[in-house]
Amino acid sequence: MSINVTIWNENRHEKDENHAASKVYPNGIHNTIKEALSMNENLVIRTATLDEDYCGLPDEVLDQTDVLIWWGHSAHAEVPDSLAEKIQQAVLKGMGFIALHSAHLSKPFVRLMGTSCTLQWRDNDRERLWNVNPSHPIAKGIDKYIELPREEMYGEFFDIPKPDDVVFLGWFAGGEVFRSGCTFQRGYGKVFYFQPGHEEYPVYHDQNIQQILRNAVDWATPLARREELSCPNPASLEK
Ligand code: ZN
Repeated sequence: MSINVTIWNENRHEKDENHAASKVYPNGIHNTIKEALSMNENLVIRTATLDEDYCGLPDEVLDQTDVLIWWGHSAHAEVPDSLAEKIQQAVLKGMGFIALHSAHLSKPFVRLMGTSCTLQWRDNDRERLWNVNPSHPIAKGIDKYIELPREEMYGEFFDIPKPDDVVFLGWFAGGEVFRSGCTFQRGYGKVFYFQPGHEEYPVYHDQNIQQILRNAVDWATPLARREELSCPNPASLEK
């Protein structure tokens, strides 16, 4: 059975030739991730970016997506609220959602969490990403820890609801720690937040990070879907 994956990327830093991201990801973060996922032959992968019509996510694309991956940073505000709402509804009905790095402040993720999703941050540190849940499907094939020589520091307190599982814990050379890989269930859908992936560093070229992304797509693939939300019509409750 084929699984439809859509990789959404803001794709602004990579198009700016003065930005380091244009050297690290000349084809865009989305295409690097697409290449990494294409090792799994069961996946039908498409990409979507902010500057395409409808942000690359018209209804027919969203309706066909089993797992949506999201990378955004400087232009969260340009994503229409109506699209964030549609994504939230799609997750409640079963679509998997994987929020990467600075997508912690993306509209769809903040909606799904219901908290501020703020955190501490500092540029240019070294991260040791600890596998603190080795029997979790997302940690399959991953060793005790992954060393990331350069990564932006994201630190606690990370204002998210209590996760269902913490799969990875980030430690930074500056002394901070962070819940770097967290899972959540929302309705029929599964959500994974994964911290590594600052655009100036080649994190998505790392074999272990790529393995985690493949694992996360497998894990987030819906096993069941809800056809209609059964929320009562508020008007009918008033009578
Ligand atoms: Zn960053």
